[in-house]
Amino acid sequence: MTPAIAIDRLSKRYDTVTALAEISFEVQPGEIMGFLGPNGAGKTTTLRILTGLIAPTGGRVRIDGLDVAERSLEVRRRIGYLPEHVALYPELRVQEYLAYRAGLKGVERGGRRSRVAEAMERCRVAEVARQLIGRLSKGYRQRVALADCLLARPKILILDEPTIGLDPHQIRQTRELITELGRTTTILLSTHILPEVEAACHKVAIINKGRIIAVDTPQRLRMRLQGTQVVRVQLRGEPAAFESPLRALPGVARVGVCGHVDGFASLEVEAASGADVREPIYRLAVERRWALRELAPVQASLEEVFIHLTTTEPQDGG
Ligand code: ATP
Repeated sequence: MTPAIAIDRLSKRYDTVTALAEISFEVQPGEIMGFLGPNGAGKTTTLRILTGLIAPTGGRVRIDGLDVAERSLEVRRRIGYLPEHVALYPELRVQEYLAYRAGLKGVERGGRRSRVAEAMERCRVAEVARQLIGRLSKGYRQRVALADCLLARPKILILDEPTIGLDPHQIRQTRELITELGRTTTILLSTHILPEVEAACHKVAIINKGRIIAVDTPQRLRMRLQGTQVVRVQLRGEPAAFESPLRALPGVARVGVCGHVDGFASLEVEAASGADVREPIYRLAVERRWALRELAPVQASLEEVFIHLTTTEPQDGG
């Protein structure tokens, strides 16, 4: 399968600053990929190269199999780009603005009205279609900008910090919208906000100081830091009654008692490397008729993973 985005040893220097040092990663069709890194890591630079706005110093990018440097017009037609700071026309009404943009993007006159309606519907801005853009809240303006990105029905969306400056309610709406758009579109989502990645992304590429330091699913990144699975179990009764039967289960490396609250024993069960002990624990509880109140993995937070990766030496080339 041709990757939707293929970045190959991409580098960018600004005078004395190396913004990108040979980064490589791919985004497969249908994926929502988080592009996570602290301020100044090189995210915006990467996105601007992907969209053909600036040229790299070295390396290359293919979008849908097409080289960005050689086929920039065709590439732009496949991409919807939401920059970090969007310039909209405050004196235009939403519908008017989108119709104008649809024209610029080559949507035929006859099809513009329905295309605008479709984009407004998807981005939930239809109710403000006749309002002046200058009077909209930042959340609405952001969604109008996103509707603009969808006008040409791009296969790939590239979003730069789409929730920056929004209030918690607007952030939630935007994240839901991204998840929804991700069902039909490939998305590369740049952010420095971890919950954004947890909430919406299948995979994440972590960038730090112009280098890719990890590319994986959020889940596997957590496992990588933690090494093995740890499961918290709550069972009605005294902890001592459960310790040795749990320890005897296949795949269990260690059982620790965390406490005894409201008549329930709380224990932590650590699996041997590579083992998943949740199902054996569940089966044992059923067999022994134990009242099981909780059976949940204890996970390192993605924040811990991020701090760990960005404060240690690069671990792989992605
Ligand atoms: P932020 O989240 O703060 O936007 P970022 O990850 O998007 O950060 P970039 O904007 O890509 O980071 O910047 C990467 C590095 O390149 C930074 O050190 C920045 O100062 C530098 N840089 C970016 N644009 C230019 C430019 N036009 N001229 C010189 N240096 C630049």
